Amino acid sequence: MSTAVCYERTREHLEALGLLEALASLDSVLEEGQKQERVTVEILDDLLTRERAARFERRVATNLKLSGIAHPKRLEDFDFDAEVDVTQQLIQELATLRFLHHGENVLFLGPPGVGKSHLATGLALKAIEHGHRVYSITLHEMVERSRTARERNRLHVVANTLTRPDLLLLDEVGYLPLDRTDATFLFEVISRRYEAQKPILLTSNKSYGSWSDIFPDEVLATALLDRLLHHSTTVNIRGESYRLRHRRQAGLTPQKPSAE
Ligand code: ADP
Ligand code: MG
Repeated sequence: MSTAVCYERTREHLEALGLLEALASLDSVLEEGQKQERVTVEILDDLLTRERAARFERRVATNLKLSGIAHPKRLEDFDFDAEVDVTQQLIQELATLRFLHHGENVLFLGPPGVGKSHLATGLALKAIEHGHRVYSITLHEMVERSRTARERNRLHVVANTLTRPDLLLLDEVGYLPLDRTDATFLFEVISRRYEAQKPILLTSNKSYGSWSDIFPDEVLATALLDRLLHHSTTVNIRGESYRLRHRRQAGLTPQKPSAE
């Protein structure tokens, strides 16, 4: 077979197999290979590396879109010098995603505005950048969605959306008390993820001792906390709301709020 025919066939193969990045970079890879006097296997390696890199990038973009992350706050934008009680070292350790590979939950507790959602979202984005599937939802949204789905006999669809991803970010637990049906659904989601060793990032303004206030009874609250905390890291953030502190520093809010 002549080189020209072989080249055409290669293009056809790449197209038929959907290796579109390899197809697009075929000419430059071949040229570069010739210039650098590369051996065939090096040229192949270069071509397939490009294909895989492009696929990975697409996967990350799709996973980000599907994650439901409304405000993509990054860990790199978190100000660790702010006087919050959260060490950069701990967050750096979490950012290695070991917790995700070990199926460990990470729970951020603290008053409003101290950066719980920012840190949880930052970790979720790290997971996405490493090719993981993530789903982010507030507890309130989850309750609303499950109620609508239940009416339409489609609760299993919502349950799957929440249990399938490698990582679930469950934001704002504790702002609203749950009735028995909603609490049972939450318990099911948490149990299923626990059984599958799929971790949860969770934020809450309530300390664990007050979780029985959110749930219809203490037995359910205890069973749920049991599963959540079995393999977990808790990040307790104390201190004042980041925004309030900045406004006060800028002289816009003269008094430190007495409640804090
Ligand atoms: P929480 O979830 O604890 O109520 P958020 O994470 O929503 O608080 O933070 C409120 C706002 O303040 C967000 O816009 C967040 O990006 C910002 N913020 C909070 N803490 C920090 C920090 N240490 N560095 C940078 N931004 C912060
Ligand atoms: Mg929050």
